[in-house]
Parts: sequence; C-alpha cells; structure tokens
Amino acid sequence: ARRGTSFGAATLPEVDLAEAIRKRFPACERLRFTSSGTEAVMSAIRLARGFTGRDMIIKFTGGYHGHADALLVRAGSGVLTLGVPGSAGVTSSAVKDTVTLPYNDETALRKTLEQAGSKIACVIIEPVAANMGLIPARPSFLKLARRLTRERGALLIFDEVVTGFRFPEGGAQQHFGVRPDLTTLGKVIGGGLPVGAFGGTKAIMRHLAPDGPVYQAGTLSGNPLSMAAGLTVLSRLTHARLQQLSDTTKVFADGLQSALRLHNPDCAVVSAGSMLGIYFQPKAPTNFDEITPGHIKRYRSFFRHMLRHGVYVPPSAYETLFMSLSHTARDLRRVLGAAKRFNG
Ligand code: PMP
Repeated sequence: ARRGTSFGAATLPEVDLAEAIRKRFPACERLRFTSSGTEAVMSAIRLARGFTGRDMIIKFTGGYHGHADALLVRAGSGVLTLGVPGSAGVTSSAVKDTVTLPYNDETALRKTLEQAGSKIACVIIEPVAANMGLIPARPSFLKLARRLTRERGALLIFDEVVTGFRFPEGGAQQHFGVRPDLTTLGKVIGGGLPVGAFGGTKAIMRHLAPDGPVYQAGTLSGNPLSMAAGLTVLSRLTHARLQQLSDTTKVFADGLQSALRLHNPDCAVVSAGSMLGIYFQPKAPTNFDEITPGHIKRYRSFFRHMLRHGVYVPPSAYETLFMSLSHTARDLRRVLGAAKRFNG
C-alpha cells in the first residue's frame, strides 16, 4: 500500500500474478484482471459474443455467475435464498438471449446445441456448482460440453470464481481434465481484496481492446494492492498445501456425515477439493430440481443449531462450506461435536 494503490496503468505485480495464475491454469494463455468476479464473467461473455458474432448464451439453473443482468436468470446464491426468480430491475430484453438448462443434463445440452448451436456464443458452467449447495458436474457432462461447443463453434467458459485454487491441481479444469476456451476467476486470487480475472487462448483474448474490437476496462482493475495480496496467498497455496486441504476436507466430510447420521439417517455430505455441501435428503442432488423443500427446511434448523453451539455455517442451504488452512484439528472436532447433537 505504501508504494501506491492505484495508477491507472499496468504494474509489475499484475504481471507477476498473471504468471502465477498461468502456471496452474495453462488454458489462460492471456489474462486480464477486473475488480470482481461479476465483471470477469460479464467481460468474458462480451468477449465470447464479440469473438463468435453470436448473441445467445447457455447457462444452467442454479448457476450463479455474478449480478450482471443477462445472468440473473434462474441464478443461484442469494438470488435463490431470497426466492427471487431473477431480479426486479432486469428487463426482459436483457435476458432474452439467455437459455437456461438443467445442470448435468446431457440430453438437454445435446438437444439445444443441435437445434440452436449456430446461434450460441458460449456455454458458461460452474464446473462444480457452488451456489446451489455443492453439486459437482459429472465428468461426462463437462466432456460433452467441451465436445459439442467445439463442434458448433461456440466457446466454453468455466466459471472458476469459486473453484479456482480449491483443488490440488489448481482449478476444476485441471481436476476434470477439460480445457475451456475462457476461464473466469476471483475470490482466492485476490487474497481477500477486490479482484476478478478472465483468461483464455491468445487467439480469443486478442479480440479485446485495445488490440481488438471488444471493449473492456476498469479504473481499479488489477490494482497493485489486490495483486500483492493475491500473490502472497498463491505463493502459500502450494500443490502440497492444496492437497492437504483436499485430504482434510474429504476426511472431515466423512466425519461430518457420520456425525449427522446419528440422528439424521437420510443425510449426505458431499465434498470436492476444499469445498463441502450438506444435504438433509436421502440422495445428494445432481441438479437444482433435485434439491428437496424438506432439505431446505432442515438446513435452516441445522444452521440455528450450529450457531447455538458457536459454529457459523453458511446461513443459506444454497451456499457452500469451505475448508481453510487456518482450521485446526481442534476447530474441526468442535464442529463435529456440535453436528452430533443435531436432531432436526
Ligand atoms: N461466479 C461465481 C461462480 C460466484 O460464486 C460468484 C460470487 N459468489 C461470482 C461469479 C461473482 O463474483 P463477485 O461476487 O466477486 O462479483
């Protein structure tokens, strides 16, 4: 901060952070920083439309990609919790080119791309959905999305704002072995300061202004303070530490499931990388429609129970739980202890 927090020009830490990210995300041959995940997604979509010359985009029900108007259609996160189908203030013209399909539904994806493929600019996916609880994509679903978008000349965007640096390999794209055309990042890469980024192949990123015709800018984008925080965090998130985090999460998820099943036999705990999802229903859902009202109700009492025992879990059933390197074995034992007593 002493060296300056905003210059309105590129600074060295921006280049350093881009290189640190590219090491783990080779699909991001070029990268551009924004100030939030919302902006990263908004810009990636504009770039996909500018690059392909097409208007329509495909997203998935319960997928949250920030609060850009075109994406507030059957979105997850707070939009779901508040029971708002989209959002007041979003015009119908802003969402008329957004097609929403069920997550993990290979038939719906195939059918839509077969019928309208030549009009689709991009398919945007959270490769592990983290805004309707935690729902990992089936590997075959991601592979199909990769193949079909390529065949139809549409771009595949992985929104890794949540999943980025939450797998030992880097993000979900390395974990699943599927290389998207564009990637969006945020959260972890800013070390707690405002940040977002989107990246992809040189051939696509070249279409951004000033080299190309797709406009994108931001006064505080890539500011040196966020870049320094991000660099510090990424330098600590070595492969070994991310592996340790994933291993701890897996063991904890099993422990939590056993603890909860003492009084709630039909409960499932899901994990992916350092992320966790808790479901008070017999089978973990594979898409938004499989989440039962009973689960939502019981999760609410779970939240209140845990809070009474000094544990703050996400207040909404549509949020995800995250493991941190700061969580000690003692912390985790305390959470399990509280979970064992939940009889909801
Ligand atoms: N994409 C995903 C997958 C997200 O979870 C979020 C935020 N939760 C965003 C985009 C938007 O990021 P931001 O809140 O930084 O604008």
